[in-house]
Parts: sequence; C-alpha cells; structure tokens
Amino acid sequence: MNSHSPEFKSALHVMPGVEGGHDGLPRQKTTDDKNAARDILRRDLKTQDYVEGILSGDRTRLARAITLIESNSPSHFSQAQDVLKAILPKTGGSIRIGVTGVPGAGKSTFIEALGSYLTGQGKRVAVLAVDPSSTVTGGSILGDKTRMERLAADPSAFIRPSPSGGALGGVARKTRETLLIFEAAGFDVVLVETVGVGQSETTVRSMVDFFLLVLVSGAGDELQGIKKGVVELADAILINKADGANIVQAQAARLEYERALHYLQPATEGWRTMAMTASALTMAGIPQVWEKIQSFVETTNLSGAFKKRRQIQERDWVRAIVESHLLERFYADKRIQQLLPILDSAVMKGEMPAATAAQTLLGAIK
Ligand code: GDP
Repeated sequence: MNSHSPEFKSALHVMPGVEGGHDGLPRQKTTDDKNAARDILRRDLKTQDYVEGILSGDRTRLARAITLIESNSPSHFSQAQDVLKAILPKTGGSIRIGVTGVPGAGKSTFIEALGSYLTGQGKRVAVLAVDPSSTVTGGSILGDKTRMERLAADPSAFIRPSPSGGALGGVARKTRETLLIFEAAGFDVVLVETVGVGQSETTVRSMVDFFLLVLVSGAGDELQGIKKGVVELADAILINKADGANIVQAQAARLEYERALHYLQPATEGWRTMAMTASALTMAGIPQVWEKIQSFVETTNLSGAFKKRRQIQERDWVRAIVESHLLERFYADKRIQQLLPILDSAVMKGEMPAATAAQTLLGAIK
C-alpha cells in the first residue's frame, strides 16, 4: 500500500480524454475547472513536469499525464514511455480490482458504494473503465458522466472514463499504463470496470489482482445469461441488489452459485472463489466485500500467488504488445493488402484451402 499522501490541488475529478469524453461528447465543467485545465493544456509539459506532477499528486498534471498516455501521436507515445520509466519504481503499491457484470447489474452503483466506503476509511481510490462499446461504436455502456457523481465529487477519488478510439488492445495498453500512473500518485485502490461481453473481461482480468463478478438474482436460472468462462475468471461473485423484497431471492442465488463454484477451477491458486450478497444501494454487505478483498490480498501474499500473478501479468503484457504490433504491421503491409482480398475471395469460393491462403500471405512478407 502506498503511504505517501499528497495533497490534491485541483478540483478536476473527472478529466476528459484526448478525444473529448469517451462517449464522444464534450464534458461539462465549471468555469474555474475550465480555466485551470486550459492553462495546463495550452503548454506542452516536459517529462520532468509530468513526473513531478504525478508523484506529488497534482491532479491537473496527473490528468495531463493520462491524456499523454491516451494520445495516438508517436511523439506523445515516446514521451509517455519516458514518464512511465521514471515513475515505475513508485508503482505496484495499489490493490488492483476488476469489476465486471452485465449492463444493469449495478457495477457503477457498486463501485460508487465501495469507493465511497473506502474514501471514508481514509483511502484514496481511482476508477478506470474498459468499455468495448466506446471503441467499436463510439457509444458507451460505461463511464458516462452522470454515473458515480458522489465519488466524482470526492477529493480522495479520481474517475477516468474509458479511453476512446482504437482496438481493445490499444485501450488495454492505455488502461494499464494509466493504472501505473495512479499507483505512482499514491492511490491505495484502483478499480477497473468493464462489461462482461466479448473479450474485455479477459483483458481486465490480465491487469488486476482481484476480479469481482457482479450479478443479480434472476428467476431461478441463475447461471443463464452469463458465460461460464466469466465465472471462472472471478475471485468472488457478488449478488447485488440484495435489498427489500429481493433479499430472499438474492440469498438463494448466492447458495446456487456456491454450489456451482464447487465444480469450477478457482481463478487464483490457493483461494476459494465464493459468492456473496450485497446492496450497492443500501450499503449492506459492502464492508464485507472489502474484508473479503483484504483477506484475499493477505492469503495470496502469504502464499506468494499475489506476486507471482503480477510477474506473469508483466511478462504476458510484453508478449501482448509485441503480438499486437506484429499484427498491425502485417496487415499494414502493401503486399498483404494487395493479396488479402484475392485470397479471401478464393477461400470463400472454395477454390483454395485456408492453410494455403495463410501460407501464401506469410510467405509474401519474407
Ligand atoms: P451497471 O450498468 O452494471 O453499471 O448498473 P448501474 O450501477 O447503472 O445500475 C443499474 C440500475 O440498478 C440502476 O437503476 C441502479 O439504481 C440499480 N441498482 C444498482 N445497485 C442496486 C442495489 O443494490 N439495489 C437496488 N435495488 N438497485 C440497484
């Protein structure tokens, strides 16, 4: 856990990304916020300015550093890498928590509840989102600015919407690097939110220590609508909305999941994935979720699984970056661009086996 507790100077709690908000709309800010942001955005910062800003917890420069990381310009990329290199020794001190679930399960309400509970305990909390919808359609499932209003106004919290533009690989890199920036700035807990669709939950699992699946009780068929694969990634399942008339049903769902979990391989070595109930609305069960996460950190620290996972995540991360760059370069190659439609068409007409087409493509760039 990071112990340094820098004073935050700016009142900017939710900063826009390079291309405006991740929902593509300009964000509303107060005049003071706007002036402060304009001043800092007007001039280019030196690498040292970014580094000092991050380490001292200056919110404006922290936000600028994230904007730098999110930029798609090659010169920004290399400066961002210099910043990251400088702050790297100060990273690693946060607990990284992934939160997934179908839209409407209550992820953002839960993050606001847990986040506010933690800031109430004197902790500093950062929230990030990986939103596949914002990269594919420009729309958003997560992170629009009306969400998490209480946490967004909390000086001990910092919410960053999903970076816009680019493929999931690009968004994943930006999110990971932003996570490191938050750690260097001394945030105790970083929550990474994603929707349980496509590959984004696997991506988020690969960058966090603890992965939480938020569900709601359905009408008996608890395991429907949510892929078994996602359950297998989770370190805990939270049956949310356990309040009012829903309590009994939520508890029944919890037991049903507990039973199902017995047959599944746990996501983390030496940790039994369990199901819990809570209400993000009434806060019932929220402190218990935090206790569970702390117990996870203790257990996995003792066994060495915590450190081992982080090391493997770093190693895999190098591979992932290399693979995405190779793929990008391959498909950008003129020879491939010429050949691809011809071979695609031959394969689709049944005139050429897929493996022959692939071999022809790979041979073309040798
Ligand atoms: P997300 O799409 O998973 O982020 O879900 P939201 O957090 O936006 O919540 C979806 C809806 O469920 C909202 O109307 C929330 O007010 C409601 N909701 C979230 N958590 C709870 C809860 O614990 N209890 C009840 N009754 N409603 C909740």
